[in-house]
Amino acid sequence: MQFQDIPGQNEVKARLIKNINSGRIAHAQLFSGSEGIGVLSLVRACIQYLMCQNRGELDSCGTCPACNKNSKAIHPDVHFSYPVVTKESGKKVVSSDFADAWRGFLKEYPFGDLRTWHTCMNAEKKTGAIHVSEGAAMQKFISLKPFESKYRVLVVWQADKMNADAANKLLKSLEEPPEKTFFFLISHAPESLLDTIFSRTQEVRIKPPSVEDLGSLAASMNLDDYLLKQVFLERDRNLGQALSALGSGEMLTDEWEAVFIQWMRNCYTVKVPDLVDWSEKYGGQSRDWLKGFFAHCSKIVRDALMLQYQAASAVPLPLKRDGFTLDKFAQFIHEGNAREIYQVFEDAIFHIERNGNAKIILMDVSAKFTKLLKAKRA
Ligand SMILES: [Zn+2]
Repeated sequence: MQFQDIPGQNEVKARLIKNINSGRIAHAQLFSGSEGIGVLSLVRACIQYLMCQNRGELDSCGTCPACNKNSKAIHPDVHFSYPVVTKESGKKVVSSDFADAWRGFLKEYPFGDLRTWHTCMNAEKKTGAIHVSEGAAMQKFISLKPFESKYRVLVVWQADKMNADAANKLLKSLEEPPEKTFFFLISHAPESLLDTIFSRTQEVRIKPPSVEDLGSLAASMNLDDYLLKQVFLERDRNLGQALSALGSGEMLTDEWEAVFIQWMRNCYTVKVPDLVDWSEKYGGQSRDWLKGFFAHCSKIVRDALMLQYQAASAVPLPLKRDGFTLDKFAQFIHEGNAREIYQVFEDAIFHIERNGNAKIILMDVSAKFTKLLKAKRA
């Protein structure tokens, strides 16, 4: 992974490059930022730059043996720790048990999130964690001297998924860091990390790509600023709030998708009695559930829009289930209706937060959506 492979983020790239070139790189850094904006890719580009044998001013060379190994995530001086699921046998698991799936994930989904990773592990229904056995593997890794590079690098992706015992093992290593060892922690929920770990790292906050950053993409996509903002900057706000209120994100996402698909079918075929039933049924859900649902609908529409504009790399795992595929749905989402669709979802969230009658809100949104799905391209 080279810096040039990641769109935008010029400010943070420049800062990382400067730190490496001046030798002032903190031994433990915590990269924080939302999912789906490529934080892990940035970290990988940073490590490749650090280890490159023929480093340029702005990027790694991409061709030296170190770059070669880092691009395939097989450099012996880089260890990746990431959440994994336990096996049927209940045997202790470490991250490297899933090394092949991990390399596939890095290659296929440079912007991949935790959910995509679970799919790559064939473990959609399970919740991965970084277990104490992996904590021991981290300790072992950093106790060794570098084999090929001047440095050893430990990457902990989704560091907030470490269980307490694993976190304590990492903490010991952070307290007495061996020489020539760098720790790159990545977290999308840094507030869930142990304070003692947080305080021993230097936080590098990664912002979503700015609209300016996405200049070339925007031009090729022919979208207005509002849509780009919705698509890249504001999509996660409501979803994040709802998920933290409700907990257990993966199950909910799964449920919301099933409800969304059923709803879209009813809207598309304009089956009014079914839409009424649907509104009655889900109008009884909690406000947090409904808010999360609409925020998630917004995300699905955003993904569909990205597919429409051939920005598939921004959609790590297109929704596909129960005969519904995102690319088919994407044909109905375009610059002629996306803006209004986002507005409909935002209005729904606005009214739900203000204790509006949920059944009426759902019926109203359905009526609007039915029309918007038939809207012509601008
Ligand atoms: Zn190189």
